[in-house]
Amino acid sequence: IVDIQGLNKWFGALHVLKNVDLTVGSGTRVVVCGPSGSGKSTLIRCINGLETYQQGTLRLAGTMLGLNARETAAARRQTGMVFQSFNLFPHLTVLSNCTLALRRVAGRSRAEAEDIAMAHLEKVRIPEKAKSYPGQLSGGQQQRVAIARALCLNPRIMLFDEPTSALDPEMIKEVLDVMVALARDGMTMVCVTHEMGFAREVADQVVFMDGGCILDSASSRDFFGSAGHPRSRLFLEKIL
Ligand code: ATP
Ligand code: MG
Repeated sequence: IVDIQGLNKWFGALHVLKNVDLTVGSGTRVVVCGPSGSGKSTLIRCINGLETYQQGTLRLAGTMLGLNARETAAARRQTGMVFQSFNLFPHLTVLSNCTLALRRVAGRSRAEAEDIAMAHLEKVRIPEKAKSYPGQLSGGQQQRVAIARALCLNPRIMLFDEPTSALDPEMIKEVLDVMVALARDGMTMVCVTHEMGFAREVADQVVFMDGGCILDSASSRDFFGSAGHPRSRLFLEKIL
């Protein structure tokens, strides 16, 4: 569903993605890790069209991103994105956060949108907070709402950018549990995370980035086993 070849991106003079190749098959889970500033967020933002790129090709759901505005917008709607900082609308209830795009983008009626939203809030085990506002929820609860909101548009791929790194330790597990359940359901996922327990449990492929390059890309067995690039082994030793 994602096919990236020779992707290069610069922010001004800063070369932030260097000849990145990555394919993500339908139904597979890819975990991206690497030190701060290595280009992980930029890569995932390119995949969902939030960032443009200067060289290479990026196909998402069969569409070459950036060529045609209408096709790019349609391909972007196949993705769900979850950020480190939740990004919920603070002035809207949990339910309205979830129904907004369903009503505005997908053209659903209020009743239909609310049914879909409630089903996803149940999936992330937080239906009782439907009438609350984001500010009344814990970080872990807000992040689960953000996941439910992304799922409402029925994406073909879910993109996560360090979804647990702003959370207190006791809330990390409740978010990871939801992500594991999503993986078990067969969702295609690209997750930027340093939660190596999660990576070991669900990842088909682990990608290690440094300095804008993919230095290592391996099955999770090989990545956590004895194989692997020396640089990623060093990184693993530091964070485990
Ligand atoms: P972190 O682990 O800290 O989230 P990251 O791997 O996600 O890091 P990116 O956010 O992709 O790294 O950043 C890669 C490089 O691009 C960094 O040097 C960063 O300073 C730079 N960068 C990111 N966004 C912009 C921007 N909008 N304008 C200019 N430079 C940027
Ligand atoms: Mg980042």
